Amino acid sequence: MLTESQSFSCPWCGEPNWVELEPGDLGQTVIQDCAVCCRAIEIFLPDEPDQPVRIVADQD
Ligand SMILES: [Zn+2]
Repeated sequence: MLTESQSFSCPWCGEPNWVELEPGDLGQTVIQDCAVCCRAIEIFLPDEPDQPVRIVADQD
């Protein structure tokens, strides 16, 4: 099965990151650490792989 990935900007440092769109994770929120600053980023994956991912704003 083809796994898609999308790029997004880290909300902490602004550096580009990639997230894998695993079919089982679509429509859910996942946590991924930034590859550059290592801070946790909450990412909402769309229901369809061709829709853009959304960064969930930090509540702190
Ligand atoms: Zn970062």
